[in-house]
Amino acid sequence: MRVRMQVFGALTAVLVGAGALVLAGDPTAAQGAPGQPRYTAGAPGAGDAYFPFAGNGGYDVDNYDLDITYTPPAPAPAPIVGQLTGVATIDLVATQDLDRFNLDLRGMDVQSVAVDGKPASEVSPPAHGAEVEGAAYWHVQDDAARVWELTIQPRPKIKKGQTAQVVVAYGGQTTRPEDIEGALYGWVTMRDGAMVVSEPEGSMTWYPVSDHQTDKATYSFEITVPEGKVAVANGLPTRDPVTEDGWTTWFWDAPDEQASYLTTASVGDYELRYSETDDGLPIVDAVDDALTPANAATTEASLGLQPDMIGFLEDTFVPYPFNSYGSIVDDDTVGYALETQTRPVYSRVARESTVAHELAHQWFGNAVSPQRWQDIWLNEGWASYAEWLWSEHSGGDSAQTIFEGVMDIPADDPFWDLAIADPGPLGLFHGAVYDRGAATLHALRLEVGDEAFFAAAREWLVRHDDSTGTTEDFEAVYEEVSGQDLGAFFDVWLRTPSKPITW
Ligand SMILES: [Zn+2]
Repeated sequence: MRVRMQVFGALTAVLVGAGALVLAGDPTAAQGAPGQPRYTAGAPGAGDAYFPFAGNGGYDVDNYDLDITYTPPAPAPAPIVGQLTGVATIDLVATQDLDRFNLDLRGMDVQSVAVDGKPASEVSPPAHGAEVEGAAYWHVQDDAARVWELTIQPRPKIKKGQTAQVVVAYGGQTTRPEDIEGALYGWVTMRDGAMVVSEPEGSMTWYPVSDHQTDKATYSFEITVPEGKVAVANGLPTRDPVTEDGWTTWFWDAPDEQASYLTTASVGDYELRYSETDDGLPIVDAVDDALTPANAATTEASLGLQPDMIGFLEDTFVPYPFNSYGSIVDDDTVGYALETQTRPVYSRVARESTVAHELAHQWFGNAVSPQRWQDIWLNEGWASYAEWLWSEHSGGDSAQTIFEGVMDIPADDPFWDLAIADPGPLGLFHGAVYDRGAATLHALRLEVGDEAFFAAAREWLVRHDDSTGTTEDFEAVYEEVSGQDLGAFFDVWLRTPSKPITW
């Protein structure tokens, strides 16, 4: 969900100047062309205009195996600083002939790097275009420019289509990282553990990663914490936790393709509750034992609705896309909830509407992810619209009534000043992305009729399952299924920074 930001009157798409930096050669240089080397550097970014250095080029990750040991902060008045050491084993396949490639890693120190068992030596970042001898790695961390890049030069080089296994040992103090807007995200250190919520590119604060949703992968986790603490990640436990010498190791496996921002490994004083839906989908909830009584009661009631909500959304759209579900409800707060895959994280309380929202993201956002961050209305518009549908289904206000409430916002209200199909990196979590996004979907439903509206939604989910899609892809599905020209409709609702009046 992320926090609903107040409406900014003069919000503009401010891009940090980092885009001008080039860290790893020229990714557009033709490979194998006369005068060009055959093996080149993978790009330092996935090509997302909002976060130019998130993700990387030249390879696709198949699997991350994360072996993490975490020590939470000492009791107050000690600073809220934890200690993390990790070994990340990353299986990837080269998509070009690779001389070098990058991983994203922020705020952690690298102890060693090996590729296919061959260790690389740490060197200082070379000047642009300079040669480096042998297998090597270097780490650039520029907080001001928001550039965090670990460059690895494997030897031998990796041929296009070849697999490679990269092992990075790393670690450091954990703090409370902030995203581009200044909101807490990533590995957020808490007194009793950590809330791990990494949208849009905060996974790099706790493991080396190609931190963009265009490179989805599977995950496995071994998380070791002081005895008594519980570590909860995505997917399902693969075995019982093992306790030895005052430390407990928790084992989790997430076999469904997953975007990096949807990875979690939260640590706290959780009670684990195992159940399943009538169809046999496993549900694992982790509820902090220190919620206030009122928040615990609200949370209990909301989580009890999860099986009904899953059934409702399956009937409305397509079958639930992953191997498990459940929620993490922490007594700490980052100020928002996040739809981490199979296991959303909630701050202090899980309310019914928020639970419907984060559950709907498992289809809209997680199974089908926004190809670029500018497409985030496809996440938040749908998840908000699912709240409206659930409200109507469960006897609350109808979707039409809630839509009319949004349309009652006066035309001169700054709410309407945002073109939600390109909200800018500081506008990702602007209220209009949510509410105008949902209103766009309801207006679309009125425009094409219920049958085409839901048929196209199902087609969207099937066509882009385990992958990503753009706003333009979405528009194409709706035009195809409805047989209508919707160009003017989408221009008015998505690309015009004023209140839709006619369409
Ligand atoms: Zn959301």
